[in-house]
Amino acid sequence: MSTKKIAVLTSGGDAPGMNAAVRAVVRTAISFGMEVYAVRHGYNGLLTGEVEKMDLRSVSNIIQRGGTALLTARSPEYNTPAGVKKAADKCREMGIDGVVVVGGDGSFRGARDLTGAGIPCIGIPGTIDNDIACTDYTIGYDTAMNTAMEMIDKIRETTESHDRCNVVEVMGRRCGDIALNTGIAVGAISTLVPEVEYDFEKDVIERIKKAQETGKHHFIVVVAEGIGHVEEICKKIEAATGIESRVTILGHVQRGGSPTVHDRVVASRMGYYAVELLRDGKSNRVLAMKGEDIIDLDITEALDMPRVFDEKLYKISMELSR
Ligand code: ATP
Repeated sequence: MSTKKIAVLTSGGDAPGMNAAVRAVVRTAISFGMEVYAVRHGYNGLLTGEVEKMDLRSVSNIIQRGGTALLTARSPEYNTPAGVKKAADKCREMGIDGVVVVGGDGSFRGARDLTGAGIPCIGIPGTIDNDIACTDYTIGYDTAMNTAMEMIDKIRETTESHDRCNVVEVMGRRCGDIALNTGIAVGAISTLVPEVEYDFEKDVIERIKKAQETGKHHFIVVVAEGIGHVEEICKKIEAATGIESRVTILGHVQRGGSPTVHDRVVASRMGYYAVELLRDGKSNRVLAMKGEDIIDLDITEALDMPRVFDEKLYKISMELSR
């Protein structure tokens, strides 16, 4: 049976590009002759009835905005069997027979459970962290990396003027992808990520000292959020090298901002693809990028996949920063 009345929601942490995905879902659904509804505040909105019918103009002027115009939430009530059943019953009451969920892997578990309760769901990966195993890319990741890079470029100028070292913590939770790529882009002397065990003396101190011997006098060390201890790392660098050192935790600035071209285009493609799947009667699927292609996978299988870290790229980052 093909789906006729669908809803879209954003869940978990917000990410730049979520709006482009929502816009694509709404406009594709309308062009396929479906009715489309927006749910505010993630799964919470299904429970409380924060559901609104969308038309073509409802998603005007959001493609360039960061955050999520639908608002998001973490819903403890939904995260229970009774909550999922209540949400599915509400969907049935409203005649909603398909839901597109934009979020991270917690949100995909929610989508899997809602599918199990009888409401077909499709997941779109949206999180700045790029920490979803089944996909090479998550919406928001490119914008977050560019924001981190721009901020560190600014830090670098003052670091250079004062012959200092700056230890910069970037986001990513347990995933080091933002740190790895940003570290390369800003020419960090060392990048620490949770996926790679490091030897502080060899991978940080010795690198700084060797570079000092060749005339370098200012340093950026990028540390992934999953490593933590940035204050301690900073103090140890200053003590071991004698270089005045500072800490910067970039924090939530990385979650905001106007999405890059890449995020807007991937989000638009995924939004379109998700509605095609619902139109074709598919459910419990999650979209993933493999290289430049978008594919769809079973949500349950996708959630069981192990994450792969790009060891080669890490090696390159350490080879180039001298
Ligand atoms: P991010 O990676 O940006 O934090 P996320 O989607 O992983 O995004 P979570 O807070 O883990 O964020 O999940 C978002 C919401 O999804 C939760 O608040 C909850 O309502 C729902 N959810 C998470 N796990 C489950 C689960 N096992 N069953 C049902 N719902 C779940």
